[in-house]
Amino acid sequence: MTVITDKFGRPLQDLRISVTDRCNFRCTYCMPKEIFGKDYAFLPRKHLLSNDEIVRLAKAFVSLGVNKIRLTGGEPLLRRDLPELIADLSAINGLEDIALTTNASLLPNKAEAIKAAGLKRINVSLDALDNELFQAINDSGVSTDRVLKGIDKALEVGLEVKVNMVVKKGMNENQIVPMAKFFKDKGVTLRYIEFMDVGTTNGWDYSKVVSKKEIVDMLSAHFEIEPVDPDYLGEVAKRYRYKGTDTEVGFITSVSESFCSTCTRARIAADGKLYTCLFASSGFDLKELVRSESDDAGIRDTIADIWGKRVDRYSDERTEISAKNKKKIEMSYIGG
Ligand code: SAM
Ligand code: SF4
Ligand code: SF4
Repeated sequence: MTVITDKFGRPLQDLRISVTDRCNFRCTYCMPKEIFGKDYAFLPRKHLLSNDEIVRLAKAFVSLGVNKIRLTGGEPLLRRDLPELIADLSAINGLEDIALTTNASLLPNKAEAIKAAGLKRINVSLDALDNELFQAINDSGVSTDRVLKGIDKALEVGLEVKVNMVVKKGMNENQIVPMAKFFKDKGVTLRYIEFMDVGTTNGWDYSKVVSKKEIVDMLSAHFEIEPVDPDYLGEVAKRYRYKGTDTEVGFITSVSESFCSTCTRARIAADGKLYTCLFASSGFDLKELVRSESDDAGIRDTIADIWGKRVDRYSDERTEISAKNKKKIEMSYIGG
């Protein structure tokens, strides 16, 4: 294995792969119905990478230092051959960790298959415990009960579960404390995600961000929490622990405390493009490459060359103007 670094000395260690651009939710901050409506043109199947193509690319990334892969979407559990993909990725030598980000609505039926395929851990997105509010956010009629059933099923089959909650001002701040209480009692790590200016369709502005500091202040009125040291370079979440317990609570502070200097992540979007930043405007067409290049070394060299030129540090430099005007890839393509 070779270790490659970008222009700022950041190694390539993590790969996020969006396996579909489709989703059964229409979260108002991610895939608003006005844009992702009945007539929205999702990618035809042949424009998605096949499992074999994903595995071939993943092997190239692992040979360049990637040791973690996260599968995302859209909603990754909508992809029928996902268990086979997980099984094939699990067999890659040198890949230490495979994780999945999901809205959990399909987990009650699919948890067993993905666990059997070799998956060890999942991140479930849940933005509210209050059912009426949750349904207003996901705009698709799925209940909190359904997601909680999915979480329970995942725990029952032995998957490690973390829960992620995007906090947006005026949307769900009143769920910050109830979510903390609920998941603390369950012994499940909850992570609050600051609302980010991903894509161009979600109406982001600074006034809608609830910062980590505001959330810590709210939690501190109810719980005693203490910081936990990061486990490794590039750990995204700022971690805390409820005093006297092993249960953690974390924060993804892309807006208030950016972490570009330790960003070791590459992303393959649903259309097979490689992005070296969540907020990139353009990507490199790996689908075209994997379909035309018969030599694995050619794929590997191309990825190494792209990473070697990387200078992304969008969140370090974010301004209200760049957030509003920069053309960025949609979250449902790039997967978070
Ligand atoms: N559908 C799956 C899910 O919701 O877990 C996987 C894909 S989703 C795009 C990945 C994560 O991105 C979810 O936790 C979602 O809440 C988060 N997300 C989407 N738009 C966001 C935004 N503008 N700011 C912060 N997080 C966002
Ligand atoms: Fe779908 Fe996830 Fe986006 Fe919600 S956040 S619309 S579940 S892709
Ligand atoms: Fe990495 Fe880009 Fe996010 Fe900075 S803004 S942490 S470079 S993905």
